Amino acid sequence: MSGAFSALWRQGGRAGLADVLAREWDVLVIGGGISGAGVLLEAARRGLRSLLVERHDFAWGTSSRSSKLVHGGLRYLKDGHVRLTAESVREREMLLACAPGLVEPQGFAFAQYDGARGRRSFLAGLALYDVMAGRRERHWLDADDFLMAAPNVKRDGLAGGIVYTDARTDDARLVLRVLREALDHGAAAVNYLGARELLRSGDRVCGALLAGDGADVEVRARVVVDATGAWSGPLHGAGPRLRPLRGSHLVLPAWRLPLARAVSLMHPHDGRPVFAFPWEGATLVGTTDLDHKESMERAARITRAEIDYLMAALQAQFPSLQLTDEDILSTYAGVRPVIAGKEGGAPSKEGREHVAWSSPGLVAIAGGKLTTFRAIALDALRLVKQQLPGWDDPLDACAVFAPVPQGGTGVPRRLNGRHGACAAALLDAARPGELERIPGTETAWVELRWAARAEAVHHLDDLLLRRTRLGLLLRAGGVAHMDRIRAICQPELGWDDARWAREDAAYRAHWTTHHGLPHEH
Ligand SMILES: Cc1cc2nc3c(=O)[nH]c(=O)nc-3n(C[C@H](O)[C@H](O)[C@H](O)COP(=O)(O)OP(=O)(O)OC[C@H]3O[C@@H](n4cnc5c(N)ncnc54)[C@H](O)[C@@H]3O)c2cc1C
Repeated sequence: MSGAFSALWRQGGRAGLADVLAREWDVLVIGGGISGAGVLLEAARRGLRSLLVERHDFAWGTSSRSSKLVHGGLRYLKDGHVRLTAESVREREMLLACAPGLVEPQGFAFAQYDGARGRRSFLAGLALYDVMAGRRERHWLDADDFLMAAPNVKRDGLAGGIVYTDARTDDARLVLRVLREALDHGAAAVNYLGARELLRSGDRVCGALLAGDGADVEVRARVVVDATGAWSGPLHGAGPRLRPLRGSHLVLPAWRLPLARAVSLMHPHDGRPVFAFPWEGATLVGTTDLDHKESMERAARITRAEIDYLMAALQAQFPSLQLTDEDILSTYAGVRPVIAGKEGGAPSKEGREHVAWSSPGLVAIAGGKLTTFRAIALDALRLVKQQLPGWDDPLDACAVFAPVPQGGTGVPRRLNGRHGACAAALLDAARPGELERIPGTETAWVELRWAARAEAVHHLDDLLLRRTRLGLLLRAGGVAHMDRIRAICQPELGWDDARWAREDAAYRAHWTTHHGLPHEH
C-alpha cells in the first residue's frame, strides 16, 4: 500500500495505514462530513472498533460550506417543524456549553418597517424558542434602540426590530474537533480514501472496496454506515430520493459591512430569509436555495445570478453602504442533502429533517443539519445496534466533548474550543509572533503550523480552506501572505520546493474557479 494516503489516527502514522485497514472493524463509516464524524465519535466512545474514510478531505463536502450557524431554526418552527426545532435548540445549548471558543452565541436583528406583517407570529415563535432553551430575552426594540444594534440598516420607515440569540461556529473545525475526539476514543479516520463499492457476503454488506492514491484495498466491517450526505445513493442505490439544493455565500470585509449582530431580512425579490453576520473577522452573507443541476462529481460554485441575488438583498437592507462586487472577498457554495418532498415544491419549503434506514450489514443516513449531528449519529447507532447482537449500549445522549480547561478570552478561548485537549501542545508549538492574528482574520499564525504538523493535511487547500479558513477570509485566497505561510508550513509538511510549487498553483487555480467571482455575465 502506498504511503500517499493522508491519515489522522492515533497509532502508527502513515506508515501504519495498511495495518489499520487490515483490521476487522465493527463499524466502517463512509464520508468525513459532520454526520460521519458524529457516528464515528458516538460509536468509538461506546467501545466499537470504528474506522472512517473520506474520499476527499475531511469536511470537504457540505460540512465546510454551510452557513455556519448552530441554530434552532426559527424558520422551521414557522413551517410547523416543532420537533426539529426543539431538537436543534437542545443540541445548540449542549454545544454552547461544551465547546466555547468553537460554538459561540450569535445575536440576530431583524428590522421591521411600517406596514410589515408577521411581527406577532415572529414574537410568538421566539417565545416558544425561549421556552425550549429555558431562558428569556427581550425581543422587541423600538427604532432608536434597534439602530444601536444594527446601525447600517435602511432607516426609511423603520418601526423597530426583533432581536434574538442563536449560535455560530466554524463548520469545518467542528468536524475536525469531533474527529479528534473520536480518535481519543480509539477510532481511526483516513482522508483521501474513498469507497468504490460495497463488499457483500450473500445478501449482507460486509465491508467496502476502498480506493485512494495507492492500490485498492478491501476493508471488512460488521456494519457499514453510509454518511455520504448529498452523495448518498451510488454505493447501494437505496434510500429516499434526495433533492440536491445549492446554497451559496459571499464573504465581505468587516470594514465594508460592519455588524454588531447578524442581520436577517426577507429578500426583496422573493421574501426568502437572507442574513449577514460577523464571522472570523469578516462578514458572511447567505444564502441562496436552488436546485443543483450540476454534476455532483464537481465541487459546487456560485453563479453570477446568485451573486446578483445576494447583492440585491444587501443593497436593499444597507443602502447607505453602497456595496458592490468590488467588496466581495470570496464566495463559496454547498449542496444540501435534503430529502425530496412533493414534486415541484419550492426548495425553501423542503423539510430539513434527517432520515436513517438500514439493510443487512448497512446503515445509511441523509438529510439533517450540522446542528443536529449528535442526534443523527445516535439514530444511526440505534440501527447499528439491531445488527450487532451482544452490543447493548443504551445509547443515552452525552456531552459531545470531554471537558477541557475552559476560561480565557480571545486566542486561548478560540484554541481551546477548536483543539480541545490538543490546545496545550499547539501553544507549545508556537514560535515567536505566531500567537498574533493574521491581519483581517481571527486566525493565529500558529494554527497554520499546528494544522500542517498534526492535522492530516494532504493538499494546500486542506490547509487554507478547511483547517484554517484563510482562503475564504482573505482577498484572492490569501496569496499576499503566501511567503509566510510557506515559511511556517513547508518544513512541517515535509514538502520539497517542487511539491510546494505544484500545490500552490493548484490552490490558486481552484480558488479562482470555486471561490472567486464567476466570469459569466
Ligand atoms: C448552503 C448551506 C447552508 C447550511 N447552513 C447550515 C447551518 O447554518 N446550520 C446547520 O446546522 N446546517 C446547515 N446546513 C446543513 C449542513 O451543512 C448539512 O446538513 C451537513 O453539513 C451535512 O453533513 P454530512 O456529513 O451529511 O454531509 P457532507 O458534509 O457532505 O459529508 C459527506 C462526505 O462524504 C464524502 N463522500 C462521498 N462519497 C464518498 C465515498 N464513496 N467514499 C468516501 N467518502 C465519500 C464526501 O466527499 C463528503 O465529504 C447548510 C447546508 C448548506 C448547503
